[in-house]
Amino acid sequence: MGLVANTSCRSHYLTTAAMFSPFNTAASLSKAMILRSSFCPRRTICFRPTPVPCLSTQPHCLVRVKALSSDGSKAADGSPVRIGFLGLGIMGSPMAQNLIKAGCDVTVWNRTKGKCDPLISLGAKYKPSPEEVAASCDVTFAMLADPQSAVDVACGKNGAASGMAPGKGYVDVSTVDGATSKMISSSIKSTGAQFLEAPVSGSKKPAEDGQLIFLTAGDKSLYETSGPFLDIMGKSRFYLGDVGNGAAMKLVVNMIMGSMMASFSEGLILSEKVGLDPSILVQVISQGAISSPMYAMKGPSMVQSSYPTAFPLKHQQKDLRLALGLAESVSQPTPIAAAANELYKVAKSRGLSDDDFSAVIEALKVKIEQQG
Ligand code: NAP
Repeated sequence: MGLVANTSCRSHYLTTAAMFSPFNTAASLSKAMILRSSFCPRRTICFRPTPVPCLSTQPHCLVRVKALSSDGSKAADGSPVRIGFLGLGIMGSPMAQNLIKAGCDVTVWNRTKGKCDPLISLGAKYKPSPEEVAASCDVTFAMLADPQSAVDVACGKNGAASGMAPGKGYVDVSTVDGATSKMISSSIKSTGAQFLEAPVSGSKKPAEDGQLIFLTAGDKSLYETSGPFLDIMGKSRFYLGDVGNGAAMKLVVNMIMGSMMASFSEGLILSEKVGLDPSILVQVISQGAISSPMYAMKGPSMVQSSYPTAFPLKHQQKDLRLALGLAESVSQPTPIAAAANELYKVAKSRGLSDDDFSAVIEALKVKIEQQG
């Protein structure tokens, strides 16, 4: 009888010891991953009932997939899959919450301990360091602010790498650059554990609704075994090959987004300056070929000069900075993104770092004031 993991009903998982096979070496995986890219929308996934061959140089290495108990909290053999979650900010909190609500055994850590409390009250366990989370869990997710914090939490004192070992997995869902991701990967993999980078496309609301898009790269077998958990938190996932490709894809996406928001801001201000109602502009855009959920969602509050934070402006500027570095690495001119980046820098200097990135419109208002 086949096992079916319907990711939308979120009731099946994979067991741990077999999931994170220590035999899936980097060398064997990278051969199989070369130039492979795949897209997996949320859908019913059928796991074969018999052992599934994993990617390994060892011909008899097998990964056995098992079902969970009816409430979804344990594997059929009684052993729960233990999930760690590091970083409980705007994105990490709802992502961890969705795992808990789906019945997962979740252990959390955050630099500011107070952010763990709501999750603990929902049933999460707590450990006082990333090392202890990683040591007590089978797969550990990390959702951190930027490259520095991602490296600190993974590789620093009492960092996750100190608690990793063969058979475990580390999935970094933070937005960082490829070089940082590779550094974290090599630190994690030096312990014999597996690594997957999996930055997300989507913001606070998609995180709350389990509608994120994962842009993954790294150990293919960890991609597969952590898939059911990614599917609890997201609506689709892409596997992009070698570590660095997920980071690059995320930076390209956010480079486009940052420029779109800067251009939209210019349009809103220009419409008002020439005597139009910017609210009508938002409506007009929403019906045409350049309509975007982002404009429809942010436009009305921008017209009111209100910027409730979903994606902090400081993170958008960080992503533009990293994207410009990526473009520089291949000598590609990116004049539009570079101009947008300057606006976000102005907004940061005006104390708008923790506002939503749509507050970049305020930087344009500053420029207009300076002219007048
Ligand atoms: P956030 O609310 O600012 O949360 C950042 C997290 O990183 C917090 O848990 C924070 O801990 C932790 N952190 C920061 N510096 C640290 C350090 N030095 N050591 C340890 N922990 C540290 O950010 P977010 O919006 O959740 O975003 C997290 C990541 O996802 C970023 O890379 C961002 O670019 C990316 N992202 C965000 C969105 C979005 O819409 N918000 C969408 C897609 C991707 P404390 O609580 O102690 O400060």
